Amino acid sequence: MKTQTRRKFLFNLGLAGLSIPVISGNGQCGEDKKSNPNAMTDKNRKAGKLGIALVGLGGYSTGQLAPALQQTEHCYLAGIVTGTPSKAETWKQKYNIPQSNIYNYENYDAIKDNPDIDIVYVVLPNAMHAEYSIRAAQAGKHVICEKPMAITVEDCDRMIDASKMAGKMLSIGYRLHFDPYHLEMVRLGTQKIYGPIKKMNAGFSFVAPKGIWRLDKKMAGGGPLMDLGIYCLQGICYTTGMEPVAVTAQSAPISDKEKFVDIEETLTWQMEMPDGLIAACTTSYSQRMNMLRAEAEKGWFELSPAFNYSGLKGKTSGGTMEYPALSQQARQMDDFALAIKNNRSSPVPGEMGRRDMKIITAIYEAMRTGKRVAL
Ligand code: NDP
Repeated sequence: MKTQTRRKFLFNLGLAGLSIPVISGNGQCGEDKKSNPNAMTDKNRKAGKLGIALVGLGGYSTGQLAPALQQTEHCYLAGIVTGTPSKAETWKQKYNIPQSNIYNYENYDAIKDNPDIDIVYVVLPNAMHAEYSIRAAQAGKHVICEKPMAITVEDCDRMIDASKMAGKMLSIGYRLHFDPYHLEMVRLGTQKIYGPIKKMNAGFSFVAPKGIWRLDKKMAGGGPLMDLGIYCLQGICYTTGMEPVAVTAQSAPISDKEKFVDIEETLTWQMEMPDGLIAACTTSYSQRMNMLRAEAEKGWFELSPAFNYSGLKGKTSGGTMEYPALSQQARQMDDFALAIKNNRSSPVPGEMGRRDMKIITAIYEAMRTGKRVAL
């Protein structure tokens, strides 16, 4: 089978300035680890790197973002915000962070006086995204906020307004826009390489353990749609280059009433696109799915697994996709740093997060009412 290679369309998407950092070793600092934290900060700033502070040192910050920040070329891990003192100590040692760049949720606003921190990256439970992003903008910082952007469209509006008022940029942690497999899906779909898309499916699910904030509607804003389904709707939008005009949705019966008190367990929904395509999606906290597939007039293309941090597999009716291992998060953060430095917009701005929140809200309405909801 023919192997497809990375194409020049990547450059059309504004990624020309980014090299692909190849993952190697354990992703931790090398020699710099042992140097004086203030000297390291000076070195990074002299190199023109922007300083990022991670807010909330949970699974994603620890497992993905901090290691990725050891590979970035245009930004670096300058500070942390945590409510857990033991994490502050561990991170300070591990990543050589000056004590003056370590904050908690009480003294968070004092970040405004810290010139080492250019970008605040909010990696908290979903219901906390709006407040901490707005406070970061009010402190005069650029913001990256994790997905989903917030838990209501009104909160998204407040976040966008706060960043505009501050004259700072706001971007969402949509890492897959920087992954070559997904960029290839964009190329194949939007350039109609196999003709117009006739059918699309996406599914993303995992089995959620009991007791996590993701199962608590107050913290998560909803169930798997907020957390995982958002990747499916994103994949449909960027592969087709379109946004849905209407949605329908159906939730499956709850199998564990103690675990799923006020959120959906499994949800299927359909997105009606402007050209008449109906894209079918599934998300669940009690199954395993991980795919994005398009069937077009003259062929098909798919990713499975589609949404992981690495190890994606891509196939088309013409062959397989092969790309080198890279850090999606390093590329995402470097692109945002370059957008700030070059005064250009981010390909994943707050407005995109708001659009997705609007679609999610419509899907929940369709689920509740059983009716088609126009967007
Ligand atoms: P975790 O539960 O692992 O971490 C959340 C962290 O937030 C905690 O460790 C804690 O950090 C802080 N926190 C502050 N207040 C609370 C609270 N009341 N309850 C729980 N945690 C609190 O979550 P994740 O890291 O998995 O997810 C964080 C965000 O990142 C979510 O919005 C999620 O959707 C997003 N995410 C995005 C991914 C992507 O691929 N783009 C992947 C995974 C998550 P501390 O102790 O430092 O205060």
